[in-house]
Amino acid sequence: MLTTIQGGRVIDPGRLDTIADIIVEDDQILEIIAPGQTVTPETESRAAEALSQTIDATGKIVCPGLIDMHVHLREPGHEHKETIETGARAAAWGGFTAVCCMPNTDPVNDNCDVTEFILSKAARAKKARVYPVGAISMGLAGRKIGDFEQLKACGVVAVSDDGNPVMDDRLMRDALTVASRLELAVISHCEDLNLAAGGVMNAGPVAAELNLAGIPNASESEMVKRDIALSKATGAPVHIAHVSTAESVVAMRQAKSEGLAVTAETAPHYFLLTDAAVREWGTHAKMNPPLRSENDRAAIRQGLADGTIDAIATDHAPHSEREKAVAFETAANGIIGLETAVSLSLKLVQDGVISLTELIAKMSTHPARILGLECGLQPGGTADITIIDPDVVYKVDAVRFQSLSRNCPFDGWRLTGRPVLTMVGGRVVYHDLKEYKDS
Ligand SMILES: [Zn+2]
Repeated sequence: MLTTIQGGRVIDPGRLDTIADIIVEDDQILEIIAPGQTVTPETESRAAEALSQTIDATGKIVCPGLIDMHVHLREPGHEHKETIETGARAAAWGGFTAVCCMPNTDPVNDNCDVTEFILSKAARAKKARVYPVGAISMGLAGRKIGDFEQLKACGVVAVSDDGNPVMDDRLMRDALTVASRLELAVISHCEDLNLAAGGVMNAGPVAAELNLAGIPNASESEMVKRDIALSKATGAPVHIAHVSTAESVVAMRQAKSEGLAVTAETAPHYFLLTDAAVREWGTHAKMNPPLRSENDRAAIRQGLADGTIDAIATDHAPHSEREKAVAFETAANGIIGLETAVSLSLKLVQDGVISLTELIAKMSTHPARILGLECGLQPGGTADITIIDPDVVYKVDAVRFQSLSRNCPFDGWRLTGRPVLTMVGGRVVYHDLKEYKDS
């Protein structure tokens, strides 16, 4: 099968930004043809032999398949919130060709049985690629380091205790050292549990007004500083998950200026919302780390603009209605994000914070580089491709989400731009193009 993606603006960050046709054969990119160039005789003869189809991408952005390096798919153990199949489907609908799923399932992904279970479920779903993240500590208990070598052999792409911090400095140091030797990324959920203890939202005037216990910025930033210090001491890379505070951005910026191997991600809610959202949306604005102040939000945007924050991830955290329809103090943390992330992140481009190319890099090539995954648009490469319509205006309707959960504060928002086609290994796994017919 030969597929021609015709006439789109092809952006491969740092390498390509031009109107071009992309020819895909089976699971690979065969050729990228800029205007004025002609198809090679070889491609032409293959086109004559193969079944072929055309996707009209005029006026659209064609970019490397987007990678969400931080999602929770809930299976095994919490299938009422999400399954690997529904999560992978939501990813495809959201323009993601790959997601990395965190190990805080039940049982925890700290062994090959769970890793292989996830991979087999994902293979059956045939939607986005699912890359499992293994636990740093056995059972996420923070005491004994996991068997990273075995986890890597079974297919994990990174390790993390996400949901929990690694409070034990020595365990974290050992994890960085071992993971670095194995070339496995370490994704750190930075939270000092002693400083955060009892808090349920950002510490500040809104928490005081609502009479809710606050979580100070230092609970995150002090752990970011610890991880930077451990990275410096060991020479091992560390990736900081879901950065939410101004102080963390400052620490990251300083570490990068020293040339340390530290990288960071943030999520759309941290550059779009502040803790004031708790007033309006209650538990649908409860997450960990919490939504912060306007000063923090501005610092996150600045960190995205100057490259201090490398990646945008969703921290997609599905919860059922009954886990959110309770008192704020007892409600589960997190919101879903896969199906709104591209549209919400495009706001950064619309607001002039970063360029479109930078946005694509933060959602594709940068996460790929951090995780050691293939990504990009080049002849001979895997045909993982996302097509985005940058101009379409629509209203978010959570009822139509593929995710099993509906905990989304962005329901009803009017947004501009969204993914209209997702191709994984040459297969169209999602599209919203009237003129395109599934073959
Ligand atoms: Zn986390």
